[in-house]
Amino acid sequence: AALSTWITRRAARTPDAVALVDATTGTQTTYAQFAANSARRAAALRSRGIRRGDRVMLIGLNSTTQLETIFAVARLGAISVPVNFRLSPAEIAYLIDDSAPAVLLHDDMFAELAAAAAAQAPRPVDVAHLDSTDQPEAVIADEEPVADDDIAMLMYTSGTTGKPKGAMLTHGNFEWNAINMLAAGEGITPTDSTLAVAPLFHIGGLGLYVLPMLYTGGTVVVAPAFDPAAALKLLARYRVSVLFMVPAMWDAMSKVPDFDDHDLSALRCLLCGGAPCPLPVIDFYQGKGLTFMEGFGMTELAPAAAILEAQYVRSHAGSVGRPVLHDDVRIVDGEDRDVPIGEVGELLIAGPNVFAGYWGLPAVTAQDKRGGWFHTGDLARQDADGFLTLVDRKKDMIVTGGENVYPIEVEQILFTHPAVEDAAVIGLPDEKWGEGVTAVVALRDGASATADELIAHCREQIAHFKSPRRVEFVDVLPRNATGKLLKRNLREQFGSSGS
Ligand code: ATP
Ligand code: MG
Repeated sequence: AALSTWITRRAARTPDAVALVDATTGTQTTYAQFAANSARRAAALRSRGIRRGDRVMLIGLNSTTQLETIFAVARLGAISVPVNFRLSPAEIAYLIDDSAPAVLLHDDMFAELAAAAAAQAPRPVDVAHLDSTDQPEAVIADEEPVADDDIAMLMYTSGTTGKPKGAMLTHGNFEWNAINMLAAGEGITPTDSTLAVAPLFHIGGLGLYVLPMLYTGGTVVVAPAFDPAAALKLLARYRVSVLFMVPAMWDAMSKVPDFDDHDLSALRCLLCGGAPCPLPVIDFYQGKGLTFMEGFGMTELAPAAAILEAQYVRSHAGSVGRPVLHDDVRIVDGEDRDVPIGEVGELLIAGPNVFAGYWGLPAVTAQDKRGGWFHTGDLARQDADGFLTLVDRKKDMIVTGGENVYPIEVEQILFTHPAVEDAAVIGLPDEKWGEGVTAVVALRDGASATADELIAHCREQIAHFKSPRRVEFVDVLPRNATGKLLKRNLREQFGSSGS
Protein backbone atom coordinates (compact mmCIF):
# COMPACT_ATOMS: atom_id res chain seq x y z
CA ALA A 1 0.00 0.00 0.00
CA ALA A 2 1.03 3.62 -0.51
CA LEU A 3 2.94 5.21 2.39
CA SER A 4 0.20 7.75 3.21
CA THR A 5 -2.48 5.05 3.44
CA TRP A 6 -0.42 3.38 6.22
CA ILE A 7 -1.28 6.41 8.32
CA THR A 8 -4.84 7.10 7.16
CA ARG A 9 -5.83 3.47 7.82
CA ARG A 10 -4.28 3.54 11.29
CA ALA A 11 -5.99 6.90 11.90
CA ALA A 12 -9.33 5.29 11.06
CA ARG A 13 -8.72 2.25 13.24
CA THR A 14 -6.69 3.53 16.23
CA PRO A 15 -7.04 7.33 16.03
CA ASP A 16 -5.84 7.93 19.60
CA ALA A 17 -2.78 5.70 19.47
CA VAL A 18 0.42 7.77 19.69
CA ALA A 19 2.37 7.81 16.40
CA LEU A 20 5.06 10.38 17.19
CA VAL A 21 6.62 11.91 20.28
CA ASP A 22 8.90 14.94 20.03
CA ALA A 23 11.66 14.02 22.48
CA THR A 24 12.62 17.67 23.05
CA THR A 25 9.17 18.99 24.01
CA GLY A 26 7.38 15.76 24.92
CA THR A 27 4.58 16.68 22.49
CA GLN A 28 2.61 13.65 21.33
CA THR A 29 1.02 13.24 17.90
CA THR A 30 -1.73 10.63 17.59
CA TYR A 31 -2.33 8.71 14.38
CA ALA A 32 -5.42 10.89 13.75
CA GLN A 33 -3.31 14.03 14.16
CA PHE A 34 -0.47 12.58 12.08
CA ALA A 35 -2.91 11.87 9.22
CA ALA A 36 -4.46 15.36 9.47
CA ASN A 37 -1.07 17.10 9.73
CA SER A 38 0.36 15.36 6.69
CA ALA A 39 -2.83 15.98 4.69
CA ARG A 40 -2.52 19.68 5.54
CA ARG A 41 1.15 19.77 4.63
CA ALA A 42 0.30 17.99 1.37
CA ALA A 43 -2.24 20.71 0.58
CA ALA A 44 0.33 23.43 1.28
CA LEU A 45 2.90 21.68 -0.92
CA ARG A 46 0.32 21.38 -3.68
CA SER A 47 -0.42 25.09 -3.45
CA ARG A 48 3.34 25.68 -3.90
CA GLY A 49 3.02 23.80 -7.18
CA ILE A 50 4.28 20.37 -6.13
CA ARG A 51 2.79 17.66 -8.33
CA ARG A 52 3.07 13.90 -8.78
CA GLY A 53 6.67 12.88 -9.55
CA ASP A 54 8.21 16.18 -8.40
CA ARG A 55 11.20 15.99 -6.06
CA VAL A 56 11.09 17.64 -2.65
CA MET A 57 14.53 17.89 -1.04
CA LEU A 58 14.70 17.87 2.77
CA ILE A 59 17.56 19.10 4.97
CA GLY A 60 17.07 19.04 8.70
CA LEU A 61 17.72 17.44 12.07
CA ASN A 62 15.45 14.51 12.88
CA SER A 63 12.00 15.92 13.65
CA THR A 64 8.34 14.95 13.71
CA THR A 65 7.88 17.69 11.08
CA GLN A 66 10.27 15.92 8.77
CA LEU A 67 8.37 12.64 9.11
CA GLU A 68 5.03 14.39 8.54
CA THR A 69 6.49 16.03 5.43
CA ILE A 70 7.77 12.73 4.02
CA PHE A 71 4.22 11.34 4.32
CA ALA A 72 2.76 14.57 2.87
CA VAL A 73 5.04 14.34 -0.17
CA ALA A 74 4.10 10.68 -0.58
CA ARG A 75 0.40 11.60 -0.38
CA LEU A 76 0.86 13.76 -3.49
CA GLY A 77 2.62 10.99 -5.38
CA ALA A 78 5.72 13.21 -5.23
CA ILE A 79 9.25 12.07 -4.25
CA SER A 80 11.11 13.13 -1.13
CA VAL A 81 14.91 13.49 -1.25
CA PRO A 82 16.36 13.53 2.28
CA VAL A 83 19.86 14.96 2.30
CA ASN A 84 22.77 14.60 4.70
CA PHE A 85 23.33 17.96 6.42
CA ARG A 86 26.98 17.09 7.02
CA LEU A 87 27.67 17.47 3.30
CA SER A 88 29.29 20.68 2.06
CA PRO A 89 27.25 23.26 0.07
CA ALA A 90 29.09 22.09 -3.09
CA GLU A 91 28.16 18.45 -2.43
CA ILE A 92 24.51 19.38 -1.86
CA ALA A 93 24.62 21.55 -5.01
CA TYR A 94 25.62 18.39 -6.89
CA LEU A 95 22.58 16.58 -5.47
CA ILE A 96 20.36 19.52 -6.49
CA ASP A 97 21.75 19.34 -10.00
CA ASP A 98 21.30 15.56 -10.07
CA SER A 99 17.76 15.29 -8.67
CA ALA A 100 16.35 18.66 -9.87
CA PRO A 101 14.06 19.22 -6.88
CA ALA A 102 11.10 21.61 -7.25
CA VAL A 103 11.71 22.82 -3.71
CA LEU A 104 14.37 22.51 -1.03
CA LEU A 105 12.87 22.49 2.48
CA HIS A 106 15.10 23.15 5.50
CA ASP A 107 14.64 23.52 9.26
CA ASP A 108 15.86 26.35 11.57
CA MET A 109 19.30 24.81 11.84
CA PHE A 110 20.18 24.57 8.15
CA ALA A 111 18.74 27.71 6.53
CA GLU A 112 22.24 28.95 5.70
CA LEU A 113 23.43 25.61 4.37
CA ALA A 114 20.35 25.35 2.13
CA ALA A 115 20.84 28.88 0.81
CA ALA A 116 24.57 28.31 0.17
CA ALA A 117 23.89 25.03 -1.65
CA ALA A 118 21.12 26.60 -3.75
CA ALA A 119 23.41 29.51 -4.66
CA GLN A 120 26.09 27.08 -5.92
CA ALA A 121 23.70 24.79 -7.78
CA PRO A 122 23.75 25.06 -11.57
CA ARG A 123 19.96 25.09 -11.69
CA PRO A 124 17.52 27.31 -9.77
CA VAL A 125 15.67 25.78 -6.82
CA ASP A 126 12.91 27.22 -4.64
CA VAL A 127 14.16 27.28 -1.01
CA ALA A 128 11.65 27.31 1.87
CA HIS A 129 11.37 26.54 5.58
CA LEU A 130 9.82 23.19 6.51
CA ASP A 131 7.23 25.07 8.57
CA SER A 132 5.94 26.77 5.41
CA THR A 133 4.20 23.47 4.64
CA ASP A 134 2.10 23.85 7.78
CA GLN A 135 -0.76 26.13 6.77
CA PRO A 136 -3.79 25.63 8.99
CA GLU A 137 -6.10 27.19 6.39
CA ALA A 138 -4.93 24.98 3.52
CA VAL A 139 -7.69 23.05 1.80
CA ILE A 140 -7.13 19.34 2.30
CA ALA A 141 -6.70 17.60 -1.00
CA ASP A 142 -7.72 14.02 -1.64
CA GLU A 143 -4.99 11.40 -1.54
CA GLU A 144 -3.48 10.85 -4.98
CA PRO A 145 -3.86 7.30 -6.18
CA VAL A 146 -0.36 5.86 -5.76
CA ALA A 147 0.75 2.47 -7.06
CA ASP A 148 3.12 0.18 -5.16
CA ASP A 149 5.81 0.66 -7.78
CA ASP A 150 5.59 4.47 -7.85
CA ILE A 151 8.72 6.16 -6.48
CA ALA A 152 8.32 7.47 -2.92
CA MET A 153 11.88 8.57 -2.28
CA LEU A 154 15.25 9.23 -3.81
CA MET A 155 17.74 8.18 -1.17
CA TYR A 156 21.37 8.83 -1.99
CA THR A 157 23.90 6.08 -1.27
CA SER A 158 26.79 6.97 1.04
CA GLY A 159 29.20 7.61 -1.83
CA THR A 160 31.83 5.22 -0.50
CA THR A 161 32.84 3.78 -3.87
CA GLY A 162 32.04 6.76 -6.12
CA LYS A 163 29.68 9.70 -6.37
CA PRO A 164 26.49 9.09 -4.35
CA LYS A 165 23.78 7.51 -6.50
CA GLY A 166 20.09 8.28 -6.04
CA ALA A 167 18.38 4.98 -5.27
CA MET A 168 14.74 5.16 -6.41
CA LEU A 169 12.75 3.52 -3.60
CA THR A 170 9.10 2.69 -4.22
CA HIS A 171 6.13 2.62 -1.86
CA GLY A 172 6.22 -1.17 -2.24
CA ASN A 173 9.93 -1.31 -1.31
CA PHE A 174 9.18 0.42 2.01
CA GLU A 175 6.17 -1.78 2.69
CA TRP A 176 8.16 -4.98 2.07
CA ASN A 177 11.05 -3.73 4.20
CA ALA A 178 8.50 -3.19 6.97
CA ILE A 179 7.08 -6.69 6.46
CA ASN A 180 10.60 -8.16 6.55
CA MET A 181 11.31 -6.28 9.80
CA LEU A 182 7.99 -7.43 11.33
CA ALA A 183 9.12 -10.97 10.54
CA ALA A 184 12.69 -10.58 11.87
CA GLY A 185 13.71 -11.73 15.34
CA GLU A 186 10.94 -11.17 17.86
CA GLY A 187 9.08 -8.90 15.39
CA ILE A 188 7.27 -5.68 16.34
CA THR A 189 3.64 -4.93 17.26
CA PRO A 190 1.48 -1.82 17.83
CA THR A 191 2.51 -1.86 21.52
CA ASP A 192 6.15 -1.28 20.57
CA SER A 193 8.05 2.00 20.40
CA THR A 194 11.36 3.06 18.92
CA LEU A 195 13.69 6.04 19.16
CA ALA A 196 14.51 7.83 15.87
CA VAL A 197 18.04 8.86 16.78
CA ALA A 198 20.11 7.64 13.82
CA PRO A 199 19.81 10.28 11.08
CA LEU A 200 16.62 9.99 9.01
CA PHE A 201 18.56 10.97 5.87
CA HIS A 202 20.27 7.59 5.93
CA ILE A 203 18.24 4.57 5.04
CA GLY A 204 19.17 2.84 8.33
CA GLY A 205 17.76 5.67 10.43
CA LEU A 206 14.54 5.76 8.44
CA GLY A 207 13.98 2.15 7.42
CA LEU A 208 15.14 0.27 10.49
CA TYR A 209 12.26 0.49 12.89
CA VAL A 210 11.02 4.05 12.18
CA LEU A 211 8.98 3.29 9.05
CA PRO A 212 8.17 -0.29 10.12
CA MET A 213 6.92 1.13 13.45
CA LEU A 214 4.54 3.52 11.67
CA TYR A 215 3.46 0.66 9.40
CA THR A 216 2.53 -1.47 12.38
CA GLY A 217 0.86 1.31 14.40
CA GLY A 218 3.46 1.71 17.15
CA THR A 219 5.18 4.83 18.49
CA VAL A 220 8.25 6.69 17.21
CA VAL A 221 10.03 8.98 19.69
CA VAL A 222 12.01 11.48 17.62
CA ALA A 223 15.35 12.83 18.91
CA PRO A 224 16.90 15.74 16.97
CA ALA A 225 20.42 14.32 17.14
CA PHE A 226 22.49 11.66 18.86
CA ASP A 227 24.02 12.29 22.23
CA PRO A 228 24.80 9.02 24.03
CA ALA A 229 23.80 10.15 27.54
CA ALA A 230 20.65 11.93 26.33
CA ALA A 231 19.62 8.94 24.22
CA LEU A 232 19.96 6.64 27.22
CA LYS A 233 17.68 8.93 29.26
CA LEU A 234 15.08 8.92 26.46
CA LEU A 235 15.13 5.12 26.26
CA ALA A 236 14.26 4.97 29.96
CA ARG A 237 11.78 7.88 30.04
CA TYR A 238 9.71 6.70 27.06
CA ARG A 239 10.14 2.98 27.78
CA VAL A 240 11.43 2.42 24.25
CA SER A 241 11.22 -1.26 23.24
CA VAL A 242 13.22 -1.64 19.99
CA LEU A 243 16.15 0.37 18.66
CA PHE A 244 18.49 0.49 15.66
CA MET A 245 21.84 2.27 15.76
CA VAL A 246 25.18 1.95 13.93
CA PRO A 247 28.20 0.40 15.75
CA ALA A 248 29.79 3.74 16.68
CA MET A 249 26.56 4.85 18.41
CA TRP A 250 26.19 1.58 20.35
CA ASP A 251 29.83 1.88 21.35
CA ALA A 252 29.44 5.49 22.55
CA MET A 253 26.30 4.63 24.54
CA SER A 254 28.05 1.72 26.27
CA LYS A 255 30.62 4.20 27.60
CA VAL A 256 28.12 6.49 29.38
CA PRO A 257 29.41 6.36 33.00
CA ASP A 258 26.01 5.96 34.72
CA PHE A 259 24.66 3.45 32.17
CA ASP A 260 23.39 1.12 34.90
CA ASP A 261 21.31 3.83 36.57
CA HIS A 262 18.83 3.80 33.65
CA ASP A 263 15.80 1.54 33.65
CA LEU A 264 15.97 -0.25 30.31
CA SER A 265 13.50 -2.97 31.28
CA ALA A 266 11.21 -2.10 28.32
CA LEU A 267 14.04 -2.48 25.79
CA ARG A 268 13.47 -5.90 24.27
CA CYS A 269 15.41 -5.73 21.01
CA LEU A 270 18.56 -3.91 19.90
CA LEU A 271 19.74 -3.91 16.28
CA CYS A 272 23.19 -2.90 15.05
CA GLY A 273 24.15 -2.55 11.39
CA GLY A 274 25.73 -0.53 8.61
CA ALA A 275 29.24 -1.71 9.43
CA PRO A 276 30.78 -4.64 11.35
CA CYS A 277 30.07 -4.41 15.10
CA PRO A 278 33.12 -4.89 17.37
CA LEU A 279 32.80 -7.91 19.67
CA PRO A 280 33.33 -5.95 22.93
CA VAL A 281 30.27 -3.83 22.06
CA ILE A 282 28.12 -6.94 21.55
CA ASP A 283 29.51 -8.40 24.80
CA PHE A 284 28.62 -5.25 26.71
CA TYR A 285 24.91 -5.29 25.77
CA GLN A 286 24.51 -9.05 26.01
CA GLY A 287 26.22 -8.85 29.39
CA LYS A 288 23.38 -6.55 30.49
CA GLY A 289 20.91 -9.28 29.51
CA LEU A 290 19.71 -7.33 26.46
CA THR A 291 18.68 -8.93 23.15
CA PHE A 292 21.25 -7.75 20.60
CA MET A 293 20.87 -8.48 16.86
CA GLU A 294 23.07 -7.53 13.92
CA GLY A 295 21.96 -6.62 10.44
CA PHE A 296 23.26 -5.92 6.98
CA GLY A 297 21.56 -3.58 4.59
CA MET A 298 21.97 -1.23 1.70
CA THR A 299 20.26 1.95 0.55
CA GLU A 300 19.09 0.04 -2.54
CA LEU A 301 17.19 -2.47 -0.36
CA ALA A 302 15.22 -0.02 1.82
CA PRO A 303 17.50 -1.30 3.58
CA ALA A 304 17.31 -4.67 5.39
CA ALA A 305 19.00 -7.56 3.57
CA ALA A 306 20.08 -9.95 6.36
CA ILE A 307 19.56 -10.21 10.09
CA LEU A 308 21.65 -12.14 12.64
CA GLU A 309 19.14 -12.92 15.35
CA ALA A 310 20.22 -12.67 18.97
CA GLN A 311 20.51 -16.41 19.60
CA TYR A 312 23.11 -16.65 16.80
CA VAL A 313 25.21 -13.56 17.59
CA ARG A 314 27.68 -15.67 19.58
CA SER A 315 27.59 -18.98 17.65
CA HIS A 316 27.87 -17.18 14.29
CA ALA A 317 30.13 -14.27 15.27
CA GLY A 318 31.31 -12.41 12.18
CA SER A 319 28.24 -13.39 10.15
CA VAL A 320 25.55 -10.86 9.21
CA GLY A 321 22.91 -13.57 9.53
CA ARG A 322 20.38 -15.02 7.15
CA PRO A 323 18.58 -13.14 4.36
CA VAL A 324 15.37 -11.35 5.33
CA LEU A 325 12.28 -13.56 4.97
CA HIS A 326 11.07 -12.44 1.54
CA ASP A 327 14.38 -12.17 -0.31
CA ASP A 328 16.36 -14.76 -2.27
CA VAL A 329 20.13 -14.64 -2.50
CA ARG A 330 22.85 -16.15 -4.68
CA ILE A 331 26.64 -16.03 -4.48
CA VAL A 332 28.25 -15.97 -7.93
CA ASP A 333 31.64 -15.83 -9.63
CA GLY A 334 32.74 -13.35 -12.31
CA GLU A 335 30.64 -15.16 -14.94
CA ASP A 336 27.47 -15.12 -12.80
CA ARG A 337 27.78 -18.86 -12.03
CA ASP A 338 26.83 -20.01 -8.52
CA VAL A 339 29.91 -20.81 -6.43
CA PRO A 340 30.02 -23.87 -4.14
CA ILE A 341 28.71 -23.42 -0.57
CA GLY A 342 31.20 -21.59 1.62
CA GLU A 343 33.13 -19.97 -1.23
CA VAL A 344 33.45 -16.25 -1.81
CA GLY A 345 31.58 -14.52 -4.63
CA GLU A 346 29.41 -11.51 -5.35
CA LEU A 347 26.16 -11.37 -3.39
CA LEU A 348 23.04 -11.14 -5.57
CA ILE A 349 19.62 -10.37 -4.10
CA ALA A 350 16.08 -10.66 -5.50
CA GLY A 351 12.94 -9.62 -3.65
CA PRO A 352 10.18 -7.04 -3.35
CA ASN A 353 12.40 -4.60 -1.43
CA VAL A 354 14.91 -4.26 -4.30
CA PHE A 355 14.93 -0.64 -5.55
CA ALA A 356 13.57 0.49 -8.92
CA GLY A 357 16.94 1.74 -10.20
CA TYR A 358 19.41 4.60 -9.95
CA TRP A 359 18.00 8.04 -10.74
CA GLY A 360 19.30 9.28 -14.08
CA LEU A 361 21.71 6.33 -14.46
CA PRO A 362 20.01 3.81 -16.77
CA ALA A 363 23.29 2.18 -17.82
CA VAL A 364 24.44 1.60 -14.22
CA THR A 365 20.95 0.31 -13.35
CA ALA A 366 21.02 -2.14 -16.27
CA GLN A 367 24.46 -3.33 -15.19
CA ASP A 368 23.58 -3.80 -11.50
CA LYS A 369 20.03 -5.15 -11.99
CA ARG A 370 20.20 -7.86 -14.60
CA GLY A 371 18.63 -11.26 -15.07
CA GLY A 372 16.19 -10.58 -12.22
CA TRP A 373 18.96 -10.13 -9.64
CA PHE A 374 20.47 -7.07 -7.97
CA HIS A 375 24.26 -7.31 -8.06
CA THR A 376 25.16 -5.79 -4.70
CA GLY A 377 28.89 -5.22 -5.31
CA ASP A 378 29.55 -6.90 -1.96
CA LEU A 379 31.60 -10.10 -1.77
CA ALA A 380 30.23 -12.68 0.64
CA ARG A 381 30.03 -16.35 1.43
CA GLN A 382 27.07 -18.37 2.64
CA ASP A 383 27.23 -21.50 4.78
CA ALA A 384 25.03 -24.57 4.46
CA ASP A 385 22.56 -23.14 7.00
CA GLY A 386 22.14 -19.93 4.99
CA PHE A 387 24.24 -17.61 7.16
CA LEU A 388 26.01 -14.91 5.19
CA THR A 389 29.44 -13.45 5.93
CA LEU A 390 30.51 -10.26 4.19
CA VAL A 391 34.08 -10.43 2.93
CA ASP A 392 34.71 -7.09 1.23
CA ARG A 393 33.51 -4.90 -1.58
CA LYS A 394 34.09 -6.22 -5.08
CA LYS A 395 35.57 -2.86 -6.13
CA ASP A 396 38.16 -3.08 -3.33
CA MET A 397 39.33 -6.65 -4.00
CA ILE A 398 42.97 -6.84 -5.12
CA VAL A 399 44.21 -9.29 -7.74
CA THR A 400 47.97 -9.76 -7.35
CA GLY A 401 49.94 -12.37 -9.28
CA GLY A 402 46.63 -14.08 -10.09
CA GLU A 403 45.61 -14.39 -6.42
CA ASN A 404 42.61 -12.63 -4.83
CA VAL A 405 43.32 -10.54 -1.73
CA TYR A 406 40.49 -9.16 0.42
CA PRO A 407 41.79 -5.92 1.95
CA ILE A 408 39.66 -6.18 5.11
CA GLU A 409 41.54 -9.37 6.08
CA VAL A 410 44.89 -7.58 5.77
CA GLU A 411 43.61 -4.48 7.59
CA GLN A 412 42.54 -6.64 10.52
CA ILE A 413 46.10 -7.98 10.82
CA LEU A 414 47.52 -4.43 10.71
CA PHE A 415 45.10 -3.37 13.47
CA THR A 416 46.70 -5.96 15.77
CA HIS A 417 50.03 -4.06 15.60
CA PRO A 418 50.32 -1.83 18.70
CA ALA A 419 51.58 1.22 16.75
CA VAL A 420 48.72 1.22 14.22
CA GLU A 421 45.84 3.65 14.79
CA ASP A 422 44.08 3.20 11.45
CA ALA A 423 44.82 1.35 8.21
CA ALA A 424 43.54 0.94 4.68
CA VAL A 425 44.76 -1.66 2.22
CA ILE A 426 44.44 -0.93 -1.50
CA GLY A 427 45.63 -2.39 -4.78
CA LEU A 428 47.84 -0.18 -6.97
CA PRO A 429 48.89 -0.89 -10.55
CA ASP A 430 52.09 -2.95 -10.62
CA GLU A 431 53.94 -4.04 -13.73
CA LYS A 432 55.01 -7.39 -12.35
CA TRP A 433 52.02 -8.38 -10.21
CA GLY A 434 49.09 -6.67 -11.96
CA GLU A 435 48.21 -5.01 -8.69
CA GLY A 436 50.46 -4.54 -5.67
CA VAL A 437 49.09 -4.78 -2.14
CA THR A 438 49.65 -1.37 -0.52
CA ALA A 439 48.91 -0.42 3.08
CA VAL A 440 48.16 3.18 4.00
CA VAL A 441 48.68 3.53 7.72
CA ALA A 442 48.11 6.17 10.39
CA LEU A 443 50.23 5.56 13.49
CA ARG A 444 49.13 6.22 17.06
CA ASP A 445 50.33 9.47 18.64
CA GLY A 446 53.88 8.98 19.89
CA ALA A 447 54.18 5.46 18.45
CA SER A 448 56.59 4.49 15.70
CA ALA A 449 56.94 1.62 13.25
CA THR A 450 58.75 1.29 9.93
CA ALA A 451 57.28 -0.05 6.70
CA ASP A 452 59.50 -3.15 6.98
CA GLU A 453 58.28 -3.85 10.52
CA LEU A 454 54.64 -3.66 9.45
CA ILE A 455 55.26 -5.89 6.43
CA ALA A 456 57.02 -8.43 8.65
CA HIS A 457 54.13 -8.28 11.13
CA CYS A 458 51.69 -9.21 8.36
CA ARG A 459 53.91 -11.96 6.93
CA GLU A 460 54.01 -13.66 10.33
CA GLN A 461 50.24 -14.11 10.24
CA ILE A 462 49.08 -14.29 6.63
CA ALA A 463 50.44 -15.45 3.28
CA HIS A 464 53.21 -13.40 1.66
CA PHE A 465 51.06 -12.63 -1.38
CA LYS A 466 48.43 -11.03 0.89
CA SER A 467 50.95 -8.98 2.86
CA PRO A 468 51.67 -5.41 1.75
CA ARG A 469 54.64 -4.82 -0.58
CA ARG A 470 54.51 -1.11 0.11
CA VAL A 471 53.46 0.96 3.15
CA GLU A 472 52.58 4.66 3.03
CA PHE A 473 52.16 6.72 6.20
CA VAL A 474 49.50 9.43 6.62
CA ASP A 475 48.21 11.47 9.58
CA VAL A 476 44.56 10.49 9.09
CA LEU A 477 42.73 8.34 6.58
CA PRO A 478 40.00 9.93 4.44
CA ARG A 479 36.49 8.95 5.48
CA ASN A 480 33.12 10.16 4.26
CA ALA A 481 30.43 11.72 6.44
CA THR A 482 29.23 8.24 7.46
CA GLY A 483 32.70 7.27 8.63
CA LYS A 484 33.38 4.86 5.76
CA LEU A 485 36.90 4.73 4.27
CA LEU A 486 37.27 6.47 0.90
CA LYS A 487 39.69 4.05 -0.75
CA ARG A 488 39.15 5.64 -4.15
CA ASN A 489 40.83 8.82 -2.83
CA LEU A 490 43.81 6.80 -1.61
CA ARG A 491 44.12 5.01 -4.95
CA GLU A 492 44.22 8.42 -6.67
CA GLN A 493 46.69 9.86 -4.17
CA PHE A 494 49.20 7.01 -4.23
CA GLY A 495 48.45 5.45 -7.61
CA SER A 496 50.87 7.53 -9.68
CA SER A 497 53.87 7.72 -7.31
CA GLY A 498 56.25 4.94 -6.26
CA SER A 499 56.44 1.40 -7.69
P1 ATP B 1 28.10 3.73 -2.37
O1 ATP B 1 27.14 2.69 -2.82
O2 ATP B 1 27.70 5.11 -2.78
O3 ATP B 1 29.53 3.42 -2.71
P2 ATP B 1 27.68 2.65 0.31
O4 ATP B 1 27.59 1.32 -0.38
O5 ATP B 1 28.62 2.75 1.48
O6 ATP B 1 28.06 3.80 -0.75
P3 ATP B 1 25.20 2.45 1.79
O7 ATP B 1 24.03 1.97 1.00
O8 ATP B 1 24.96 3.46 2.85
O9 ATP B 1 26.23 3.10 0.78
O10 ATP B 1 25.93 1.25 2.49
C1 ATP B 1 25.71 -0.10 2.14
C2 ATP B 1 27.00 -0.89 2.32
O11 ATP B 1 27.45 -0.84 3.68
C3 ATP B 1 26.84 -2.35 2.01
O12 ATP B 1 26.88 -2.61 0.61
C4 ATP B 1 28.00 -2.96 2.79
O13 ATP B 1 29.21 -2.89 2.02
C5 ATP B 1 28.13 -2.06 4.02
N1 ATP B 1 27.46 -2.68 5.21
C6 ATP B 1 26.17 -2.54 5.59
N2 ATP B 1 25.90 -3.25 6.70
C7 ATP B 1 27.04 -3.87 7.05
C8 ATP B 1 27.41 -4.76 8.12
N3 ATP B 1 26.55 -5.16 9.07
N4 ATP B 1 28.70 -5.19 8.15
C9 ATP B 1 29.59 -4.79 7.21
N5 ATP B 1 29.31 -3.97 6.18
C10 ATP B 1 28.05 -3.50 6.10
MG1 MG C 1 26.73 0.79 -2.21
